[in-house]
Amino acid sequence: MHKIIVPALKVVKIILRQLNGNVSQIVFKFNLLRNKFDSNLILKIGIMNKSNSGLLCYAFSIVILLGYSNFLYSQEVEIDPLVAQRIANGLYIHPAYGSYTTIFSGDDGLLLIDTGMEFEGAKSDSLIRTAFKKPVKYIIYSHSHLDHVGGSKSFAHDGTIIIAHKNARKEMLQSWKPPEIFKFTKIQPYSKKSLPDICFSDSLEIHFNNETIKLIHIPNAHTTGDIFVLFQKSHAIHTGDVFITLNGFPPFECSFKSVIKGLDQLIQLCDEKTLVIPGHGPVSNRKGVIHFKEVLLTAADRINKLKTQGKTYDQIVALDPLAGLMTGKKYLSDNMFIYSVYYGNWGITR
Ligand SMILES: [Zn+2]
Repeated sequence: MHKIIVPALKVVKIILRQLNGNVSQIVFKFNLLRNKFDSNLILKIGIMNKSNSGLLCYAFSIVILLGYSNFLYSQEVEIDPLVAQRIANGLYIHPAYGSYTTIFSGDDGLLLIDTGMEFEGAKSDSLIRTAFKKPVKYIIYSHSHLDHVGGSKSFAHDGTIIIAHKNARKEMLQSWKPPEIFKFTKIQPYSKKSLPDICFSDSLEIHFNNETIKLIHIPNAHTTGDIFVLFQKSHAIHTGDVFITLNGFPPFECSFKSVIKGLDQLIQLCDEKTLVIPGHGPVSNRKGVIHFKEVLLTAADRINKLKTQGKTYDQIVALDPLAGLMTGKKYLSDNMFIYSVYYGNWGITR
């Protein structure tokens, strides 16, 4: 009964709350929040209706809900979905510049993964701390790229501890310029404030908010310091840029083979209910990773065939070899992936 009342209560609360707003807002927020409880509520109501007492139980639960909604609601903090979308118990994603800051909230405080770009860090930091009303105890970097670590200049204060792979720290100490086609200015070494305090080699386990969080190194793939972050109880994995879902082919600094190896490892780590939080784009699942890997293999195969025929990089770009493999607006230009595959990597300027 309790299992029915709590998720059903959430539905009623959202509807009641939204009565002060307009209809489109109600529909929008209902759809946005539906993922929180759809399987809980709909499935269980369906089961109940199969029994003779189902309807009575449901009516009773609604009465209970209405009567005690304020009491029960006061026990959880409701986060504005425009600040952070809840994807699992205690797990949220905050939209950053094309990427996400993943937020893990609980009694011990907040643990964040990635901090977005430098220019948006202060705003994101303020929004998150104000909404959750908790200290940021840990920040984990999925890798060293500026759109994932830049915001740390604002986020890292009041004793926040930053954790990353040891190679990510090494990369953050370098001054370097990516290849011309990437159109990035020279990247300067990061200041002490943004650098990881704790580093590891192969894996690390953190026990926080009653959850076991595993950090696993994926060597020489998108960068030398990529990691996957696994939330055991929440069945969620943050992948960094080894896996993205924001239409586009991800360039890689190190090796295509290692990217595919990393994706294979990710597929092994997922079961049917695992939430896969990519470096960029909407939350996905095991099937999404399998599809992504197949698309990357086809794309690389097309590029390599043209290279074997003796075509230059510019000739291959002109032939548009990745046409039709992904639809919609792309986050990154195809050229960056073509460059990575053609030259084997794009970390050659480091
Ligand atoms: Zn990256």
